[in-house]
Amino acid sequence: MNLVSLLWHLQTTDNELDDKTKRAHQVDHALANDPNLVATRAADDDAQKRLSALRAQMRDRELEAKTLDAKIKGIEERLYSGRVTNPKELDSVEKDLQMHKRQRSTLDDKLLELMDAVDHAQEFADEKAGAFKHADGTRARDLKQLARERDALAARLTELNAEREQTRTALNADALRTYDQLRKTKAGRAVAQIKRDACGACGVGTPTGLVHRAREGNEIVLCSGCGRILTA
Ligand SMILES: [Zn+2]
Repeated sequence: MNLVSLLWHLQTTDNELDDKTKRAHQVDHALANDPNLVATRAADDDAQKRLSALRAQMRDRELEAKTLDAKIKGIEERLYSGRVTNPKELDSVEKDLQMHKRQRSTLDDKLLELMDAVDHAQEFADEKAGAFKHADGTRARDLKQLARERDALAARLTELNAEREQTRTALNADALRTYDQLRKTKAGRAVAQIKRDACGACGVGTPTGLVHRAREGNEIVLCSGCGRILTA
């Protein structure tokens, strides 16, 4: 390979190195983090907690109902036992009974509401558990794929680094200095291809003489427009 072909090859290698290195970082990041899995797990936990809290409320209310039922039974027994004969006392026991029955009725309404809420919370929790299970399965597949990609990238990066070193060894210090400097200042594009007698990077026309010299490729010819190394 002549000088300019080597520089062009070096640039192709460097560009792929940059791309693959960037992708390797993305893959590492994706292997370490999965926001979707974290979010679906949190939603699942929340839904389960809400369901448990409602069930606990339900149990409390059911206990209250049992206690009230026992009280009502006691009052009724007293009322119909014939032991209470005083009309004033009978009236008071009767009122007490009605009050407890009203409480029981209110409690029944609350229990029905809670039952409904528990049903909804159960449905919601099932949905969230399903979403988490699905995300977990997807994640497991993603992890396998990402691990394969990481390994392939690592292998390719090793090749590219070797290739880069080999190409750089074949180039002289002056050419490397020019290339490195341009790569830094020209957004990674130190070498530009001549297309229809113009610089492929900036479009400024290249005189025929320079096109010939660039085509021979034994010396560095710079674009008069952008200063990049020209290759034909
Ligand atoms: Zn140019």
